[in-house]
Amino acid sequence: MEPIDALRSLTDADRWIERVVAQREHLAERAELDALEVQLRTLLRALHDAEAIAAPVRLAYETARELARRHSVRVGDLERALASSSASARELTATQHELEQVRSRVAAAEDDELRQLIELEPLDESIAAIKARAQPGVARRSELQGEIVQLRATLDDEITALRLTRAERAADLEPEWRQRYEHALARAGTSGGAYVDAGRCDGCRLALSPLDLDRFRHLAPGVVMDCPECGRLLLP
Ligand SMILES: [Zn+2]
Repeated sequence: MEPIDALRSLTDADRWIERVVAQREHLAERAELDALEVQLRTLLRALHDAEAIAAPVRLAYETARELARRHSVRVGDLERALASSSASARELTATQHELEQVRSRVAAAEDDELRQLIELEPLDESIAAIKARAQPGVARRSELQGEIVQLRATLDDEITALRLTRAERAADLEPEWRQRYEHALARAGTSGGAYVDAGRCDGCRLALSPLDLDRFRHLAPGVVMDCPECGRLLLP
């Protein structure tokens, strides 16, 4: 292969690698996932806030319910005692008196339980609403995570194969050309060679001066000039 052809081939290989690497780094799925994670974090904060507001109400509700339950148990005990008692009239009167007191405590505790429940319900609804809003996002997130892993693995395989091809193409170059190319690549990045497109180096987009352009057009065969701006080998 002519050195110029080998240089072109190597330039194309390097540019191709760069494109696939950029594709790997800028997956649309990754951008969507980033935006989705911001949304989900916002919803999570809203959920924590809503739960923090509901927590004391829930505790008050559960406390009232437990109190009502304990008083109701006591009512049952007293009612059974009254029904089966062989106690004296005085004891019966005392039990009857306690029963009335405990019944009114049951009623008070149940009122409290109901009040707390009425306060708790809309809070629980807003918690459920936040969870419902987050649910499709959570599902989409794991979908995207899976897709990204797969896409990256595919692109990694492609990059590995392209680098192998690139190494073969570099090996085809004569050492002095290879050295010149690699030197330009290390300096400019992406590729060590570039093409002239509409009077511009297509590596750095600099317009060549009329003098440089004229020089480029009249180079002796096998002679390659560097881009005055980026130093890439300008390939005909
Ligand atoms: Zn250039």
